[in-house]
Amino acid sequence: MNCPTCGQVAAGDVSCQFCGQALILPPGILLSTVGRRFGGYLLEFVLVICTLGLGWLIWAFMIFGGGQTPAKQVLHMRVISIQQARAAGWWRMFFREFIAKTLIAFVSVFLIPYFWLLWDRNRQELWDKMATTLVVSDPTDQLRPHSREYTDSS
Ligand SMILES: [Zn+2]
Repeated sequence: MNCPTCGQVAAGDVSCQFCGQALILPPGILLSTVGRRFGGYLLEFVLVICTLGLGWLIWAFMIFGGGQTPAKQVLHMRVISIQQARAAGWWRMFFREFIAKTLIAFVSVFLIPYFWLLWDRNRQELWDKMATTLVVSDPTDQLRPHSREYTDSS
């Protein structure tokens, strides 16, 4: 299979190793860059502080169903379920953000989990592996679920 975005051979992978195209998604949807991922962590931290945590939580619960967190919404990023090849649903986001990240924090050494994406072929963090998710940039909200599916708890 050739990558629809750059034309390089990208057989049997979830993402193109040359341009970052997510091969399970429409052409033009690329993995978020390392810079954007780290920028997202920083922005998330700022948003949590500025909203005293509670505001962030309410905001997050309203948009989890579209595969986003507050920082990801601001930065036009989206978490994708690899199996379903579409935006992660509410419970997958809940699992990824709270359960997977907490478990990894307990067993991790220093900040290594945050840097995992630097050497991962699909720029996955460990919590992405636990939740089987990818993080892509979705500048035009192309992958936003239809409102009916938005409440789908998949
Ligand atoms: Zn490519």
